[in-house]
This record gives sequence, C-alpha cells and structure tokens, in this order.
Amino acid sequence: MTKKLNILVLAGDGIGPEVTAEAVRVLQSVAEAGGYNFEFRHELIGGVAIDARGTPLPQTTIDAALASDAVLLGAVGHNKFNALSPSQRPEAGLLQIRAALGGFANLRPSFAWPGLAVNSPLRPEVVEGADILFVRELLGGLYFGEPRQWDKTAGSAWNTMRYTRDEVVRVAKVAFELAAKRRSKVTSVDKANVLEVSQLWRATVTEVAKDYPGVALEHQYVDAMAMHIMNTPRSFDVVLTENLFGDILSDEAGVITGSLGMLPSATIGGKVDLYEPVHGSAPDIAGKGIANPLGAILTAAMLLRYSAGLDQEADAIETAVKQVLGQGHCTADLARGERSAHVLSTQEMGERVQEALNDIVFRRQAMHAV
Ligand code: NAD
Repeated sequence: MTKKLNILVLAGDGIGPEVTAEAVRVLQSVAEAGGYNFEFRHELIGGVAIDARGTPLPQTTIDAALASDAVLLGAVGHNKFNALSPSQRPEAGLLQIRAALGGFANLRPSFAWPGLAVNSPLRPEVVEGADILFVRELLGGLYFGEPRQWDKTAGSAWNTMRYTRDEVVRVAKVAFELAAKRRSKVTSVDKANVLEVSQLWRATVTEVAKDYPGVALEHQYVDAMAMHIMNTPRSFDVVLTENLFGDILSDEAGVITGSLGMLPSATIGGKVDLYEPVHGSAPDIAGKGIANPLGAILTAAMLLRYSAGLDQEADAIETAVKQVLGQGHCTADLARGERSAHVLSTQEMGERVQEALNDIVFRRQAMHAV
C-alpha cells in the first residue's frame, strides 16, 4: 500500500520560509523515490499570521494541524512586533500550537557532524563521535506548576515544580523505547539530593527501567551533568530530563554541533507530532538566502522517522547531510578555515543534500535490483 502522509507546513517568519522550502523539497524527493504520497498543506503562524489575520495562530491553522499527520514548522518572530505584549506577539503562536497539539516529549539530538568539530568551542577530540538524544518532558514541571505568582507588594515570587507519577512514566517510556533502538543507555537527570519532585522522578524512572532490561540506566544530578556534557559528551546516549533541566542542558549540548542552524527537534506524544528546527527566525540574515537549511532538513528526517516509520529514508537524509559536510561544503554560519572556500547559499545547500540523497537512494535501489 502506498504510504500516505498529510503534512502541514507552517513556514512562519524570517528565515522560516527559506529553510522550510529546502526541507519540503527533500521530503518531495523521498516521496518520489519511494513512491509515497506526501501531501503538503501550507498555513500561517507567527508574524505573517498577525499581518494577514490579526492573530499569531488563526483557528484555520489549528484545525489544519489537528487534521494532519505531522506539522513541519519553520520559525516565528519579527522585530516589528517587539512592542506588543507577549500574548500578542508572533512567539505566542508557537506556544499555542504546542499546547493545542499536546506533545509531552521533546526530542533534541546533539550530534557531532563530520568536519564540524572546528565550529564547536570544545576541543575536537572531546566532541568528535558525540551523539546525544535529549528526551525532555515538555508539559509539566516548573513552567506549568501551580501556584505561581509574583507578589509585588510582598516583594516575593514563587513557582512550583510539580510532577505526577503518570507524567514521568509516559516520558520515561519514550526515552527507553528510543534508547533500545540506539546504544541502549538512558541517563536520567534530576536533583534528587535536594528536591522531593526529583525523588519521585528518580523512583519512577527506576521502576520503568525494569520493563527494559536491555537498556542500561544511570542517574545524574543536573549540576554534575552540566559538567559531564562538556567534558565527556561521547559517554551519553539518551538523556531523559524534566522540563527546566532539559531546556538548559539541551541548549548547552547544542555547542557540540557547532551552529544553531544544525539543530533539529521533534515534539511527540500528543494528538499530532510537531517538528521544528531549534533556531529562531534570525531577522539579521532573513531574506539574504544565506541561512543554513540543515536544521530544517534534519527536522524533516525526524518527521519521517517518528511520524511515518520511514527509518531508512530518515537515515538516508542524515547520511546525505554527512556526505555534503564531509565534502567540505557549508553555509556561512559554518564557514571556518578551508571551508570558507565552499560556502553555499540556502538553496544550493538544499540542492547538494538532494543530489546526495538521490545518489544514496539510487545505489540502494540498484543493490536491491541485483
Ligand atoms: P535566532 O535563532 O533567530 O538567531 C540567533 C543567531 O543565530 C542569529 O545570529 C542568527 O543569524 C543565527 N542563526 C539562527 N538560525 C540560523 C540558521 N539556520 N542559519 C544561520 N544562522 C542562523 O534567535 P534570536 O535572534 O534570539 O531570535 C530571533 C527571533 O526568533 C525572535 O523574535 C525570537 O523570539 C524568535 N525565536 C523563535 C524560535 C522558534 O520559532 N522556534 C526560537 C527562538 C527564537
């Protein structure tokens, strides 16, 4: 049966449309090569939605997202809306779509791409070979816990870090399932030496681990983990964290990759899964055709892996990216030393990845035909 996939594309603002166009082209190549039926619908989010409809997330976008198999988002944000209140700004659209889709597990890979170690502030011998997948709980913890308040009269403010056992179980299962398909190790991060909420987290993760005897579990305190990620990034496989710790640690681990433009992400477990590069709308380079589309292209690979079960195709995209980088090509954000002679535009980089992908798929098909 032909694999059918309805993908809602929310290109958004700034470099969002530029990088998303390349991700869509790569997905189209995969569909053509594999005989799959991918349908793309485009809707508005962020500043472009405010301009056209007066709101950062129109109801038509929410309806289209809920009717799709997966949502591919570019980025939102534009300086011209900076004077608006947070709830009216383009970024509100992003928070609202995440809430509407309800994904609780945020997946963020940090991978040391061949030849890019020189872009990392860490020494090449420390980063080379690093391949970490963060599984960050996204709907609980300090960001959502009640009560929360800033009592200006009293001069005090408070937030609540709260988790239920069920919230921990469901995200821990995602981490163990993914680790079982990778290098079979989960590092769970908490602050169980100080926080009761972390003691619940640790006890629950330990309990879930019993269902995955083939996956090794280790626990780390968040403060020590911040240091270990920088010192020995290669020693981690899947890192499971609550919301706040994951927000901080996954940004920290981004330095392994060497550029914000290289980082993909997926948010899964809700009604419809949401895929977006980690970077923002980059107003400083928008419209110049120089943005790095690889974060968006790698995000498309995650979409194929997690929403379509097309692991081989996702692997092929990642291999194509490795090959193009291995040949010394780069976009402006990655240009260092010898690489500076091979700087490509956004579109050229997308085309190189497509060519490498077509080559990989062609060779694979030829092997199967023998
Ligand atoms: P940013 O990620 O847009 O840019 C930070 C720096 O990284 C800039 O110098 C930019 O040029 C560079 N950069 C980012 N992506 C790149 C790419 N693909 N290729 C090459 N260089 C790239 O973050 P910011 O400047 O703090 O925010 C700009 C706007 O984006 C703001 O309105 C912010 O609120 C919004 N934002 C949106 C998201 C999102 O949509 N998920 C995430 C972060 C920030």
